Formats: sequence, structure tokens, C-alpha cells
Amino acid sequence: MAAAKQCDGTSVGVILCDEYQRFAIFDRGTAPAGAAWVAGHIDQHGSSEQAAVQESWEELGVRVRATELVKIGQFWRLNHCRRTPYTRPQDGAIGHRWTLFQANIRSTVLSPSDREARNARWVGTSEIQSLTNRTIAWARGEISNEAFAACPGVEPVWISLAMSAGIVRVDAGDLAVVEQRLNDTLHLG
Ligand SMILES: [Zn+2]
Repeated sequence: MAAAKQCDGTSVGVILCDEYQRFAIFDRGTAPAGAAWVAGHIDQHGSSEQAAVQESWEELGVRVRATELVKIGQFWRLNHCRRTPYTRPQDGAIGHRWTLFQANIRSTVLSPSDREARNARWVGTSEIQSLTNRTIAWARGEISNEAFAACPGVEPVWISLAMSAGIVRVDAGDLAVVEQRLNDTLHLG
């Protein structure tokens, strides 16, 4: 078995929003389960903007121009990935430095080329909120791992990012419960 690729400790997230205030999301085909916006490591892409453009194309088949990307912020998140972990030098914490973008684009057909992207779709804020509530219910133990993997809510790492983007509302207690379970591995099938 080949050695796992080294994580570079970076991630971009891209919230694609259309003119109907809908968001382009998909269900991740690999652990951790969850409905997610476009995301990926920066790796060899050079810049967070270039990674955002490339990941939008690979995961959803959407052409986004770098000039359409609006940076929401940068966030250190304690989420793990499937690679050999990156550890932050100052404290040894495992995670990713996320650069979060939003791009407002004209609605387009989503045609993922990435086999990891299932059920790609445009959804409005009320559905995003109900997917968020499903993740909270899972984090509280009200939904089993199997049921969540079969019909996932928002991927746990995305809850606070979506809050930062002003898309969902979550109270502090619920967020704390989700954050505690950030790195619980949810295997699909
Ligand atoms: Zn990683």
C-alpha cells in the first residue's frame, strides 16, 4: 500500500451562490460524510484563489473566475483529512488553515467530474438550515452514524464556516457539541 499523501495543512472552501440565493452543494462520497460546499487542499495550485477555481471545476463542473471570488475570511479548523496529518508548529494541533470564499454566479447545471461528489444540487437557505439541524441532531446522538452517512446533514467542519458566511444560525451550545465530534470518522457503505 502506498504511503498516504502528506497534508499541507491548507484548505479552501468555496460557497457558490446563484441569482436565486441558492447554494451549490453535494454529498461527500468519502469520509467524513456530509453535505458540503466545494473544498480542497491548496497543494500545488499556488494560491487559494487558483485552488478555489480548480476545485469548483473538479467537484461541481462550475467555471468560476478568480475575480468572482470574494474572500470571507481565514479560519483555523481542527478537522482531520485522510492524508498524513499536518501539525501546526506552535502547538502540534492537527488541522487546516481554511480560506473561505463566496462567489455569486449565474445558475448553471452542476456536472461533477469528481467521483467523490454525489447528489450535486442547488439548495436554498431553509434547506441548508434543516441539513444543519440534522448534523446537530447527529452530534447530540439522536441520529446514528449509519443513518447520517446514508442521508447526511451538513459536513460537521462546515457548520461554523457556514455561520461565518451568514448562511445558518446555530446557538453556541449546539455548535460546541458539533465541534466536539468534528473528527469522528463516518464511513460510508
Ligand atoms: Zn489535509
